[in-house]
Amino acid sequence: KSGKNRIAEYSDNIDSSSIHRLDLEKNMFDAIGKSCEEFEVYFQPVITNEKKARSGKGIKHIGAEALVRWNSDKLGFLNPDEFVPLAEYLGLINPIGNHVLKKACECCRQWNESGVGDFSVSVNLSVVQIMQTDIVDIIKECIEENNLKPENLILELTERLAINDLARTKQTLLDIKDLGVRLALDDFGTGYSALSSIRALPFDIIKVDKDFVKDIATDDYSQAFVRMMAQLGETIGADICVEGIETKEQLEAIKNMGVKYIQGYYYDKPLRRAAFEEKYVYNK
Ligand code: C2E
Ligand code: CA
Ligand code: CA
Repeated sequence: KSGKNRIAEYSDNIDSSSIHRLDLEKNMFDAIGKSCEEFEVYFQPVITNEKKARSGKGIKHIGAEALVRWNSDKLGFLNPDEFVPLAEYLGLINPIGNHVLKKACECCRQWNESGVGDFSVSVNLSVVQIMQTDIVDIIKECIEENNLKPENLILELTERLAINDLARTKQTLLDIKDLGVRLALDDFGTGYSALSSIRALPFDIIKVDKDFVKDIATDDYSQAFVRMMAQLGETIGADICVEGIETKEQLEAIKNMGVKYIQGYYYDKPLRRAAFEEKYVYNK
């Protein structure tokens, strides 16, 4: 059923999902072998919460989050949720993630050279990547090769992943921060160790998860949560980014809460590089 020229071991509990998994795994190895070309980086704008920027006029500082997609020759188009967890499990997130980091930094360089504004780019880093012994050098090289101001690179770490070796992770993050890049804590409010990770690790930006935004136009609890985060952010010197803003009502609800950055479909979905550039870089 999966094609000729392959051997599969039979077991009662091999169901269609594990066959799919084997397929994913094999194709992922192949795609990495082909220098990661099938992994395409999309960009979603991150809007600074100021009147001018919100209206789309006169934006000077423009952010973008890099989000990977896989255009697989064999499997078709895959969203990150469909392959990043497996890539992390197999350790293959390292070559894929390094590819995304490199592409994102190259793009940011070109945008800044266009003279339109001051662009920064956010890249998701898996905890698995942080464990690469040469991760600090990899990041340093990306910044230097592309002439980036270090603060224009933001590295996002999700709270969802358990951190096994907190001492080592913390030291690596401190080393990365010494490069001058900014660190963001992603998906805040969804993990099991929310507040303790803020205390233990040096984050510049905290990204409030979209779960807290869904009902924010009407729900007192969500409103109180975002307000509390903004206050906490002020106290510890971190900027707050709210993700998942889809409607005008949600935007109205949060815009005066002391939130620094806004991200969501209300502005744009993640766009292919060319579409992002057409809209945010070369149309000024
Ligand atoms: P994330 O880092 O939390 O990224 C934000 C996700 O929310 C993106 O999904 C984005 O498309 C989606 N999103 C943005 N605005 C809205 C909105 O207004 N409404 C809704 N419903 N969703 C919105 P995406 O691109 O499918 O990525 C899913 C996750 O995959 C990311 O979540 C991130 O954890 C992971 N991921 C993506 N690219 C990479 C990567 O290069 N490396 C690693 N390690 N993980 C990645
Ligand atoms: Ca993210
Ligand atoms: Ca997130």
